[in-house]
Amino acid sequence: MSGEKSRAFLDRLDSDDPVLHAGGYLFEMERRGYLQAGAYVPEVVLEHPDALEELHAEFARAGTDIMLAFTYYGHREKLRLVGKEDLLEPLNREAVRIARRVVKRYPDCFVAGNICNTNVFDPGNAKSEAEVRGIFTEQLTWAAEEGVDVIVCETIAYLGEAKIAVEVAQDFDLPLVLGFAVHRSGKLRDFDGSVAEACKIVRDHGADVIGVNCHRGPATMMPLVEEIVGSVEANHVCAFPVAYRTTPEQPTFGALRDPDMPYPEQVPNGIPFPVGLDPFVCTRFEMGEFARRTKELGVRYVGGCCGTGPHHVRAMAEAMGRQTEASKYSPDMSKHYALGDHASLKQHNREYAGKMTAAGQL
Ligand SMILES: [Zn+2]
Repeated sequence: MSGEKSRAFLDRLDSDDPVLHAGGYLFEMERRGYLQAGAYVPEVVLEHPDALEELHAEFARAGTDIMLAFTYYGHREKLRLVGKEDLLEPLNREAVRIARRVVKRYPDCFVAGNICNTNVFDPGNAKSEAEVRGIFTEQLTWAAEEGVDVIVCETIAYLGEAKIAVEVAQDFDLPLVLGFAVHRSGKLRDFDGSVAEACKIVRDHGADVIGVNCHRGPATMMPLVEEIVGSVEANHVCAFPVAYRTTPEQPTFGALRDPDMPYPEQVPNGIPFPVGLDPFVCTRFEMGEFARRTKELGVRYVGGCCGTGPHHVRAMAEAMGRQTEASKYSPDMSKHYALGDHASLKQHNREYAGKMTAAGQL
């Protein structure tokens, strides 16, 4: 294994302290007004590096162990879509440099190179397989040259595409974390077996960490995680859900529907995904509970994907028994003027709270 940090990452999987992964940069940068929904290309890396650096730092303060270079959807196919293939290499290199700048301030974090679904994989089509291999190889070449400790491959819906990612990652001698995106069917697109069986195949193929990410919120990802833990060593399983309240009837964030959605005409086909999902955002407590339960299962790579904010990450860290830099500002509602019962609150405040409750205002 190439570097000391890469070895430290693998050792960490054998510890009692799970690696915490903060992700979801695409959605958060869009929400903050630095990235356009639709094409979803991370030009923010070059156009607003300070804004991206700030989000990295916020996640670090909240307790992430993974500093994920923002190259999600920063691959050749996506840049071609917007006519900006010339930005491909600068974008990929700069994303790692920005992540590394923040890790200088938070040296315990691991810098992660990021690859993802290419959207061109076609099972059994040799030309498309070669194209996917080329996309992964060029991105990882730039990431490795800039200096990463680990590779995170996200949101893969095909077993075949996952195997290519494993093979390419092996050429770089870096640990690989790979997350499958499990759509409504509950299966991968090119494999009849279960997701847990696919995870076993990819683990045997050489992935260091294998599991699920994106698409599903904590509630509908958890049953999959329990199943995967039964077929792969738990400490080599990853799980980083979207921070949206999915249900058995609406198991993915793309399937979420709200019959009372205000202004449905403002989103395509009245479907909340991806820009009208706000009413479905998980509370910090739901994400924290997911972290607590997965840790209990022995999972050692846990986090959040689309929709995740720093408050979710902090809650996950704390649910796993950690204090973070941002924990200084974690809630202490005992000091709230109307809701609290802290000894320093004046008696009339407490009486006021009682009156408000009695009046039905709280
Ligand atoms: Zn996601």
